[in-house]
Amino acid sequence: MSATAVVGPEVVERGFPKSLRSELIALRRAIHQHPELSFAEHDTANRLEAALRACGVEDIRRIGTGLVARVPGRSRTAPVVALRGDIDALPIQEATDLPFASVNPGVMHACGHDVHATWAVAAAALLLAEPADGDVLVVLQPAEETGTGALKILESGALDEVRAIFGGHVDRRFEVGEVVADEGPLAASADSFTIELIGSGAHAARPHESRDPIVAAAAVIMALQTVVARRLNPATPGVVTIGSIHAGNAPNVIPASATLAGTVRAIEPASRELLLHEVRQVAESVAAGLGVESRMTFEPGTPPIVNPAEATGWARAAAALVVGDRRLKPLGILNLGGEDFAHYMERMPGCFLRIGAREPGGEVIPAHSARFHAAEPSIFVGAAVLAQCARIASAALTARS
Ligand SMILES: [Zn+2]
Ligand SMILES: [Zn+2]
Repeated sequence: MSATAVVGPEVVERGFPKSLRSELIALRRAIHQHPELSFAEHDTANRLEAALRACGVEDIRRIGTGLVARVPGRSRTAPVVALRGDIDALPIQEATDLPFASVNPGVMHACGHDVHATWAVAAAALLLAEPADGDVLVVLQPAEETGTGALKILESGALDEVRAIFGGHVDRRFEVGEVVADEGPLAASADSFTIELIGSGAHAARPHESRDPIVAAAAVIMALQTVVARRLNPATPGVVTIGSIHAGNAPNVIPASATLAGTVRAIEPASRELLLHEVRQVAESVAAGLGVESRMTFEPGTPPIVNPAEATGWARAAAALVVGDRRLKPLGILNLGGEDFAHYMERMPGCFLRIGAREPGGEVIPAHSARFHAAEPSIFVGAAVLAQCARIASAALTARS
């Protein structure tokens, strides 16, 4: 690809009609000010539906607190692609000094989904003005933070005809106008497990009459540290973390059981399987050596996101057209956070992008911090890049069909 000129976010923003710009900013601020938790996004969904209709989108389907809007393409029979923006907030007390800070106590848009929802609406407006070859489904997805919203949308069947999907996340490690669209791993799988260690209780002064689950818990936790260190190929990242441990109520009583809970993160399906298998194996055998039974239950979370080559190529071409290829940045250090966009990517190809959201000279504030907010111009960059992803993917899929 030949080098394209660097385009500042202000230029991208000027590509939007002025009245639309101010409506989008008002929409983002309203969503930010009235955040709603996963699967409770009732007002948010109403606001988004009204904004889509105001832009001229007619075909809108409600799926619980989510929406799927169909933006017509130039041909009814051309392949359909989708864009996704998530819409839910987090149980965090906001500590920004934004004039439109949350008015809902203990609830906050600390992950930037207020911006994702807005750029999805903005992308719909762009695609109405300059359609893709085929229809584009704009998915406003609830409950990303609980890892369950994408499945709800998929189970509705609304995306059955979709041939490729694109989405993005604001990221303050990158300045507004910068975009990451890297092939390969982008987010980790995030599964939870609980290990119940069942022994038998006794007087604390008579340990020989017990099968002490607290000593077993200590041994199991230390042995679990060898799973990543000794079982996982060091060339691939993974995490095993015990985040909670509960046992006993009194200093002079050995309890009958102990409960550990933790999370396993991996970026490759094979390492995910291996880690979960080894955690169970190590816990059972170490506990058994101490006369304690280990029962592990596993709560599957989101799979990893691994951006495939072809769809990532479409996304890179789209980003280069919008911001110039010098503003296409490498992800750098992989973050082992989870992202439920992965559920779509299990069913169809696509690409998940990072969209720079730090104002020039601004601070790097991590998502899920009470001070997190995304720079407003990231709305326009995200919308323009995603709309262009849809056009390029649609054209490539049409040429093939
Ligand atoms: Zn989040
Ligand atoms: Zn998020």
